[in-house]
Amino acid sequence: MNIEVINTGTELLLGNTLNTHSAWFGRELFKLGLRIARQTTVPDGEAITVAITESIRRADVLIVTGGLGPTSDDLTREITAEVLGLELITDEAALRSLEGFFTMRGRPMAAANLKQVLCPVGADILPNPNGTAPGIYVPPRLNGRSNCAIFLLPGPPRELYPMYQAEVVPRLRALSGVETAYEALELKFTGIGESDFHQGIDAELAAIPGLEYGYCAHIGEVDLRLIGAPAALAQGRAITLGHFEKFLISDDGCSLEAMVVRLLTARNLKLATAESCTGGLIANRITDVPGASAVLTHGFVTYANAAKVGLLGVSASDLEAHGAVSETVACQMAAGALRVSGADIAVAVTGIAGPSGGTAEKPVGTAWIGLATKDAAATAFKVYHPRNRHDFKLAVSQSALEAVRQSCL
Ligand code: ATP
Ligand code: MG
Repeated sequence: MNIEVINTGTELLLGNTLNTHSAWFGRELFKLGLRIARQTTVPDGEAITVAITESIRRADVLIVTGGLGPTSDDLTREITAEVLGLELITDEAALRSLEGFFTMRGRPMAAANLKQVLCPVGADILPNPNGTAPGIYVPPRLNGRSNCAIFLLPGPPRELYPMYQAEVVPRLRALSGVETAYEALELKFTGIGESDFHQGIDAELAAIPGLEYGYCAHIGEVDLRLIGAPAALAQGRAITLGHFEKFLISDDGCSLEAMVVRLLTARNLKLATAESCTGGLIANRITDVPGASAVLTHGFVTYANAAKVGLLGVSASDLEAHGAVSETVACQMAAGALRVSGADIAVAVTGIAGPSGGTAEKPVGTAWIGLATKDAAATAFKVYHPRNRHDFKLAVSQSALEAVRQSCL
């Protein structure tokens, strides 16, 4: 089934709003065993007419998002009716539900809202419990102009997502008639580069019949995506882990920070962080994970030397002698965080983000990562991530979280 998606909205092309719908639809349709053949983003206005006219010639299913609002630049409904040569009439049930929406909120309904309950003759209204704009489903072959099934859906994610699940999924299942015939697996790795992967397993994966695979490199991480029938997936997984198991973060799409929380929770261990150059990013990533409160006790951001001394008990003379970015200080930060917090594991980072402040001995991008646990003396190791400040922080936080993960294994 040839599926196309059109995302409308001038703000998407100006860069004001990131077009998250396109990735979201890719993932959701994949769960149904379907894929997007083509995705188009167009500004509000005449471009929508052109895009819809072209898509319905090629596609079996067209999904259009945005432009169902009450304002003059919301024209998706009108344009679709015009392209298909269908008359727009007021849907009485949708009108009553729209009136109910405003009554419930104690607000008068503006005249402009009335256009939101216009529906092409013969099309279905898709109820919107979360907003004023109902969606519209135009079945294929409604008139002589199109064999394409068309869904018009609202732009705001909190309206779009529930409407998709309730109204679009059942219709797509019926249209496609496919049960999901294949599955996907995402294996996340760290401590290894994309090129090691290519050389290591590419040929072996390529030899598995019916297996589709691809790599996606992020900062400090490489994801391997496997798509295929369960047997092909199992074979691909076994070959990959045969080579790279010790670099595996997760085989179920779980992020590094979520894996750290999962492991700490399972072992009933508490974590504290002491961060200098990452400015709290490690604690931030941990607290992005639901259930983080079960494992994280303290997140110290000790940026100034005085904070390292005052909060973590780092020795002022060692700071003077070795510098803040040193093995000694990283160890003392970790040991101090462990002592003050009473946690079971403490991780500390101290580094030089740049662009200035580097030396020949400690170039920009250098960081020391310290780790302290209750039953061993603190240790530290050096990493080198010469990147811009944002990416440097991300890379250092990745190394630190990986160190915590390793210590939990
Ligand atoms: P409204 O009644 O809000 O006007 P609408 O159906 O006309 O709804 P749009 O005006 O296109 O939808 O979009 C409304 C809001 O939804 C946008 O401001 C934006 O925040 C969000 N949005 C729309 N399209 C996308 C997209 N492709 N990706 C992410 N967010 C989007
Ligand atoms: Mg709008």
